[in-house]
Amino acid sequence: MTRIFSGIKPTGHMTLGNYLGALRQWSEVDQHRADSLFCVVDLHALTVDHDPARLRRLSRQGASLLLAAGLDPGVCTVFVQSHVDEHARLAFVMECVATDGEMRRMIQYKEKSVRAQASGQSVRLSLLTYPALMAADILVYGADEVPVGEDQAQHVELTRDLAERFNHRYGHTFVVPRAVVPKVAARVMDLQDPASKMGKSHDATAGIIYLLDEPATIGKKIRRAVTDSEAGVTYEPETRPGVANLLEILSACTGKEPSALADAYQGSGALKADTADAVVELLRPLQARHAELSADPGYVDGVLREGAARARALARPTVDAAYRAIGLMPPA
Ligand code: ATP
Ligand code: MG
Repeated sequence: MTRIFSGIKPTGHMTLGNYLGALRQWSEVDQHRADSLFCVVDLHALTVDHDPARLRRLSRQGASLLLAAGLDPGVCTVFVQSHVDEHARLAFVMECVATDGEMRRMIQYKEKSVRAQASGQSVRLSLLTYPALMAADILVYGADEVPVGEDQAQHVELTRDLAERFNHRYGHTFVVPRAVVPKVAARVMDLQDPASKMGKSHDATAGIIYLLDEPATIGKKIRRAVTDSEAGVTYEPETRPGVANLLEILSACTGKEPSALADAYQGSGALKADTADAVVELLRPLQARHAELSADPGYVDGVLREGAARARALARPTVDAAYRAIGLMPPA
């Protein structure tokens, strides 16, 4: 059976981008067609400036949002990365397979290190090496497929390279995984800055729709979305990125093609109104389920405990095999 692994970082409140680019696919499709593991990758959240109490809160909220988005612990495995030691054990080995040059070529490293420096923070070494940990996250489960938004495809490519290099040098140990990127909304853009991706860790929040935003807030953010001064509505992502982003969001909510939707609107006012309504309706069930789960922390704890136990059982033999293959002496 195909195995799937994917994760989300508790670096901020989850966004519509996370839902449309990742979570929705996990919940509606992936968990039903494969043996799937979904993870709150909290170690990755330590690669940028963080507050310990906030990280604890966001990790719990992240796990509860995965369940609220429809992940069913009866059919898939939901857990927290730091509860399974094998990720960190294998990450060091992956650092020994990767090169400094290939890490520095990662676009996310370039973008995030610039952002850290611009806000006066130092760049953590782990921000550079984080793709090695991500490779370990995937390889430790022998995952065949990794459903991610477009921004993560480069890291999955690197994971493939590392797996192939390891297998070639030390003997076949890892399954070589591939990225699976959704056809629509693989890259939801910031409503205030349609040139950059909507990201949960960004400081400017006016262009970001959070999954737990109130309906009125969602309406306000979408009505204030930056578009352009051209008349009418057309789907031209290169020249009209703001309008295209709204059309793609509406398309992801309705299942209709963005260019077909464009034909139905005379101006961006009506497009914004319909997009706002569609997003509010899309998120309503998730928000209701999240409220229920928040009232039952014991349930979420139980899911995470069982998830980590299953994950550990799968991961342990892979790491042991990798340690042996690379020449580490087995314990007596
Ligand atoms: P950060 O700003 O900390 O990087 P993020 O919002 O990018 O946060 P991640 O935890 O890095 O979230 O990614 C979780 C998943 O969400 C990944 O599969 C990623 O590709 C997807 N994703 C993130 N942002 C978007 C977006 N704007 N559009 C589509 N998918 C996205
Ligand atoms: Mg990201």
